[in-house]
Amino acid sequence: MRRKIVAGNWKMNGSKDLVNSLVGEIRSGLASLDNGVEVVIIPPALFVSGVVDQAGGEVAVGVQNVACWDSGAYTGEIAAGMARDVGCSYTLVGHSERRQLFGETDGQVAVKVGRALASGLGAVICVGETLEEREAGKAEEVVSGQVREAASEVGGSQWSQVVIAYEPVWAIGTGKTATAEDAQAMHASIRAVLTSLGAPADEISLLYGGSVKADNAAALFAQPDIDGGLIGGASLKADDFVSICRAVPGRS
Ligand code: PEP
Repeated sequence: MRRKIVAGNWKMNGSKDLVNSLVGEIRSGLASLDNGVEVVIIPPALFVSGVVDQAGGEVAVGVQNVACWDSGAYTGEIAAGMARDVGCSYTLVGHSERRQLFGETDGQVAVKVGRALASGLGAVICVGETLEEREAGKAEEVVSGQVREAASEVGGSQWSQVVIAYEPVWAIGTGKTATAEDAQAMHASIRAVLTSLGAPADEISLLYGGSVKADNAAALFAQPDIDGGLIGGASLKADDFVSICRAVPGRS
């Protein structure tokens, strides 16, 4: 059975004080939750160890990016193995901000997926179309291409470490959310692409991201192919984030 996951991407926000207050508040809020959701916090890399300490093993921790290399003269980069070493279980790969602001290509995303999986991290592979691509009727083609390229570095049992986050670029941080129906349609299309690649598509968790809030999460998470969410802004407030975690339907 595929996992239900809610992951909070803090982006370049936070401080030691926030780590010390927010993680504990999130843990308290989750204490009475029994819907089986796996919760992941993805802070800036400098705060990972602090979050790992505060998380007490109850909440998983991830990094927002890893390098294309294992080690060496790559000043400023962080290897997947280092993230694993300090207690991370996940990394984001190919977030649209990495692709758009830092020119990360599908090819680099694929290499990073390979590094992450080889280091024992789960890879949350982010895919999604721009507004222009959607309006040109190319959304499924673009997302399918991103999934296929990222999948080129995944083999056999490594699929159990893969999570895919569909995040339409026009919905990230804008307050605009895909309708539950449009999001479901894209998730079903991603699952079909995975099947065509020979991946165990029914076992792979697919998350929706893009302005998910406490008031729209339940409708999105009720869709049959949406297994949770990747949350940006709303992950920085404990009440909002916990409400989103609560919106995941319980195990049936
Ligand atoms: C994100 O950072 O991946 C994201 C979805 O952000 P937001 O929820 O703020 O749109």
